[in-house]
Amino acid sequence: MTHRARKPYIAGNWKMNLDRSRSLDLIKTVKGRLGDGGDREVAFFVPSIYLADVTAVAQGSPLGVGGQNCWFEANGAFTGEVAPRMLREVGADRVLVGHSERRHIFQEPDDWMGRKVRTALDSDLLPIYCIGETLDERKGNKTERVLKRQLESGFEKVLAVDAHRVTVAYEPVWAIGTGETATSEQVATAHRSIRKWIVQRLGEEAAGLIRILYGGSVKPDNAKELMSIDSVDGLLVGGASLQAETFLPIIEYDR
Ligand code: PEP
Repeated sequence: MTHRARKPYIAGNWKMNLDRSRSLDLIKTVKGRLGDGGDREVAFFVPSIYLADVTAVAQGSPLGVGGQNCWFEANGAFTGEVAPRMLREVGADRVLVGHSERRHIFQEPDDWMGRKVRTALDSDLLPIYCIGETLDERKGNKTERVLKRQLESGFEKVLAVDAHRVTVAYEPVWAIGTGETATSEQVATAHRSIRKWIVQRLGEEAAGLIRILYGGSVKPDNAKELMSIDSVDGLLVGGASLQAETFLPIIEYDR
């Protein structure tokens, strides 16, 4: 399967930014511009406190709306956490798992990842599983080893039948929010090794259904080049997803 056989996926991660009214304005603007969505999938990952309002505004459009994190139990004594079924209940249809800020600021360990991805799938949410190496790991030539370790943990409970519902985002930690983008060659090499690992794990056919996004300082002026890399199926965008003026040109990278 060639990469363009997979629908391009452009996702915005708001992190802990925007307020309620600016969130709703942004959703309205993007919804108005998106029409029927056409040949690409667009989604926002929203602070969970705004999810109900945002999904209400997005309703009737092809815009996907997701949570930025979830826990792997359905309920219980987990103060401050959100269960996947709760995200689903307020209208989310997807969720980020393993974002580097969760791993590095909040110390989420590898061995939570497989359970989070599995619980998300079992709760009818589409996970984007985020992986990526730190600068030290890249400098120490450990990138491939780190990606493999993160894939092993996130795919621990993923079966070939789940493949069409799973997305992977390659986000080198040193490129997130820094203004520094990985070179096309670095992106292509990492994506190739990720796809090779998934093919070995799930087989060619199932692996061919999984999209691999790039994330890390994506902006309107580098989106087209990144999307022209053969192994890149979409983009995960942080800072530039907070304003229609910067996010719309990324969604419309080829126009
Ligand atoms: C992200 O939040 O996943 C991200 C890639 O952020 P930024 O685009 O701001 O680097």
